Amino acid sequence: MQDFTYNGLPTRVIFGSGTRNAMAAEAEKLGITRALVLSTPFQAELAREVAADLGALAVGRFTDAAMHTPVAVTEDALAALQDAGADGVVSVGGGSTTGLGKAIALRTDVPQLVLPTTYAGSEMTNILGQTEGGRKTTLRDPRVQPETVIYDVDLTLTLPQGLSGTSGINAIAHAVEALYAEDRNPVVSLLAAEGVAALYRGLPVIAEDALNREARTDALYGAWLCAVCLASTGVALHHKLCHVLGGSFDLPHAETHTVVLPQALAYNAPAVPEAMAQLSRAMGTPTPAAALFDLAVTMGAETSLEALGMPESGIESAVDITLENPYWNPRELAREPIRDTLQAAWRGDRPEL
Ligand code: NAD
Repeated sequence: MQDFTYNGLPTRVIFGSGTRNAMAAEAEKLGITRALVLSTPFQAELAREVAADLGALAVGRFTDAAMHTPVAVTEDALAALQDAGADGVVSVGGGSTTGLGKAIALRTDVPQLVLPTTYAGSEMTNILGQTEGGRKTTLRDPRVQPETVIYDVDLTLTLPQGLSGTSGINAIAHAVEALYAEDRNPVVSLLAAEGVAALYRGLPVIAEDALNREARTDALYGAWLCAVCLASTGVALHHKLCHVLGGSFDLPHAETHTVVLPQALAYNAPAVPEAMAQLSRAMGTPTPAAALFDLAVTMGAETSLEALGMPESGIESAVDITLENPYWNPRELAREPIRDTLQAAWRGDRPEL
């Protein structure tokens, strides 16, 4: 075994079904006496319910959270926080709502209690992406790390099957790259393998039956473990390609991860035999890259960049940007094979390995 460094995450986690009942007690543990409840407009009704459950602890709601954490929205939320005299936030929703809570915490250091309702995993990380004037910047800061997360499987039952698939495969991508990260370590690799196995087991059942509680439990548990992986280790080619494609062609976040993951894994496979063996064991298949492609098909997700709206003429500039400022990667990044990988992703080829 090679030498390694392991950092444990400070976030407290409550996991189960009906766990949202612990909200008020958990908020009080954090010293929150006046909470502002956050959500997207789509989940405003859920925010209302959460505020009702919190009773006197909830002093306001802000329901305008949006994708990619626009700074203008954060400024409105800060004004709402001040007007309500709130001393903490309760974020209920996916990565967009969690992002808003983090942006508020970055500026005020108020404690965050998060109730995730997707598999995106932002709740476990100290990473915040924000947009201003059409530009997205990403930072890491300890103030951004949520203090407490309540995973309540019941809150995920309404997540549509399509979004469950792409959000779940987005989570799997965090774990896949943790298995071959430059700073990988045996503890995080255990979490990664268990996270992939749980999501790979749960998602196909959800595709058939969105209300299956056992499958929803598997998927949320897997998403949590995969989020810990994202928080604990660096990322490589897969995340680089997704950042380039998202930034240059405004492609949707989870859908892009879903298309790119099988292709990026196929690219790296020859250089990471140990990670491939761990994935094969976790998924019960000798061909993990092809099996992830098949999982996307099972979930009804798009499997090509073309279907996501990327022009074929953009492939060459995506190769250029990827190579201009590359992330560390286990396999050397060479122009021809990267172009082949992006072409395969654009067409939606099933990786044959
Ligand atoms: P999202 O939060 O934007 O949610 C998508 C839509 O689904 C929203 O309208 C939301 O209200 C709705 N929704 C969420 N849960 C639902 C449920 N259970 N039932 C019905 N509808 C539901 O999407 P997301 O994929 O969770 O998050 C994506 C964002 O998170 C991106 O901006 C991404 O950059 C960010 N992210 C950040 C990190 C990080 O560590 N900083 C990690 C992962 C993702």
